[in-house]
Amino acid sequence: MATALLPRHDPRTGPGWMLERLGTAVWIFDIDDGCVVWANTAALEIWNAAGLEELRARRMNETMSPAVQRRLRQYQADFAARNTVFTELWTLYPRGVPRPMRVRFSGVRLVGGRVGMLCEGAPEEGMEPEMMRSADALLHTQLMISLHRDDGRALYLNPAARAAFEGRHERLVDRFAQAEDHARLLDALVGHGEARLTAPVHTCDGVRWHELTARTCLDPATGDPSLLVSATDVSSLKQAQALAQDMAHHDPMTGLPNRLMLSPLFDRLSAHARAAGSGLGMFFIDLDQFKSINDTLGHQHGDAFLVEVGRRLSALRGAQDAVLRLGGDEFLFLAIEDPAQPRLEALATRMLEQLSMPVGSGGRRVVVTPSIGLARFPDHGQDAQSLLRCADWAMYEAKTQGRCQYRLFHDQSRTRMETQLELLADLKEAIDGQQFDVHYQLRHSVARGRTVAVEALARWHHPVHGTVPAAQFIPLCERAGLINALGTLVMQRALGQQRQWQARGLDVGVSINVSLRQLSDPGFGAHVAQLLEDAGCQGDRIELELTETVLVEGSRTVHENLERIRALGMRIAIDDFGTGYSNLARLSETAIDCIKIDRSLIFGLPRNAAIVETIVAMCRLMRVTIVAEGVETAEVAEWAGRHGCHELQGFHFGRPMPAAEMEARLAAEHAAAP
Ligand code: C2E
Ligand code: CA
Ligand code: CA
Repeated sequence: MATALLPRHDPRTGPGWMLERLGTAVWIFDIDDGCVVWANTAALEIWNAAGLEELRARRMNETMSPAVQRRLRQYQADFAARNTVFTELWTLYPRGVPRPMRVRFSGVRLVGGRVGMLCEGAPEEGMEPEMMRSADALLHTQLMISLHRDDGRALYLNPAARAAFEGRHERLVDRFAQAEDHARLLDALVGHGEARLTAPVHTCDGVRWHELTARTCLDPATGDPSLLVSATDVSSLKQAQALAQDMAHHDPMTGLPNRLMLSPLFDRLSAHARAAGSGLGMFFIDLDQFKSINDTLGHQHGDAFLVEVGRRLSALRGAQDAVLRLGGDEFLFLAIEDPAQPRLEALATRMLEQLSMPVGSGGRRVVVTPSIGLARFPDHGQDAQSLLRCADWAMYEAKTQGRCQYRLFHDQSRTRMETQLELLADLKEAIDGQQFDVHYQLRHSVARGRTVAVEALARWHHPVHGTVPAAQFIPLCERAGLINALGTLVMQRALGQQRQWQARGLDVGVSINVSLRQLSDPGFGAHVAQLLEDAGCQGDRIELELTETVLVEGSRTVHENLERIRALGMRIAIDDFGTGYSNLARLSETAIDCIKIDRSLIFGLPRNAAIVETIVAMCRLMRVTIVAEGVETAEVAEWAGRHGCHELQGFHFGRPMPAAEMEARLAAEHAAAP
């Protein structure tokens, strides 16, 4: 055993009289206690000590740097394990005065079996200060410096390199965790005589990341070609990079991969599907009315809700599937399907069930339903982005067809999608290029037997498709974020028109459609006030039409905007009434002036008379103006008038028409009954 080789030191007799007489300074250092335990005369002189007792009393470790202390511990371990001997240039500081020495260190057993250090020192007089400093720096630096023969065998390791590698590998190649890194290093050396790389290496602390610089040189002792390597540990930097990378690819809230992970995940799953001959489905999941949770319960509950949705989706995931959060309330589910056991549609049903279950949030149980679109690889798209477009489209169809359902992408969907996407592209130009116009449809008063108001309806004069009705492009504008721009344009025209008619003696109200998005803009109320002032209209001649959804889903901002608008004297109408939630409690919270019964109910008259009668009775209680929309025949007009509708609107009275045509019509009515 190596430790048995260490000479024993007996403090009572000393290591012997011979040592006393040697010209070489010899002393024994107790690494654990940090003091000299024995020194010969020459050493006492070097240490500038009055006697052994005085030297022993010096607590050397109190003035020692942590780096030196660490190094001594390392020596101690090396002595114990391998009986190592080092010769190094050290600068001692007897009574604070620097003394460069060449010291030979070896291990010695102290009483009680502890390992101490036998030091034999020869003064390095005539040494250049420059050299002293560089030798000292080499010993103290954290930089791991090593010199290797050209076959890679280590010739010298500085203390930092020794701490990292000693006893682990003799050859440089063994240091590398990946052999190809060593090959790269050698290639670069052959090419440039110098190399730099960052690589994982084996160290006494396991695998670490080192940044290495290597240079070919000559061994100063033998003149043989050799290799000087310096290395720094950059593991923490690497970890930080990896963490940053991970954070960039994951949504911190749900912990799910984010949009950036779509392509890599899709590539992996589609390759797997191809190889296994299986199918791959992409589900686009969007929560219905999620905004209302954020608005009514606050963002914290909204966030908790999204985390729960992520959890429920993940619970449905098979071993090969992936779940991502695209952003906001949009999630993506990639699912592998074995053709022998189709599962995609059943999975969509399970998603609907699971996501529609109440979530406990802030002491309340909240229900939010999803709209889901499903597209299949490779039928609907070969790559992540084109498949995503199809799944998104199918989701959009699920949403527009009543929400809380899933829709499969079909080839018919593709034609619809393509024409719509084409229109969408044109739409952006249209807004700038003034291709929009406003048509007006009259509202006929039953009591007064004439037009009392007109509804402004946006029209798009498309250079190829001709006049496009609002039903076809308003939803596109909403999707493309163009509805605010369009809304402003329509409102400006409609207000200006109303003012003009008023000036010409044609007293007619104008109603303007506004969407949830417009009302969700905090500046909307002020914007409307400005437009009203610019046009010079009277507020009470203007009515804004919004849907029930706006009131149900509307945030505080929406309600603040509505209050601001009412303060201008403007009227509020509920459009398409009877198709949505008919959440009467919610409706009566907001001051409403008018309810427009949806044309789908009016078409069905007198078959579904009961529903319309109920709505009319209710509206009478709320003391609001009742408008029947979509009146196409004289019979329906007669029925609606008799059953309490105040105003009638529909093709029977007139289609939406350009302003000039409407003006002629109003003027004729005015002339007939001034
Ligand atoms: P809406 O507010 O319900 O407007 C009435 C729609 O029904 C108009 O379609 C009109 O042409 C149509 N219509 C009127 N009478 C009859 C009838 O007797 N029978 C039938 N079958 N249809 C009738 P349009 O112009 O395509 O507008 C569709 C929707 O687009 C509107 O529905 C409205 O919600 C929206 N919209 C129109 N203009 C604007 C606008 O400037 N801003 C916003 N945000 N939405 C608008
Ligand atoms: Ca309307
Ligand atoms: Ca309507």
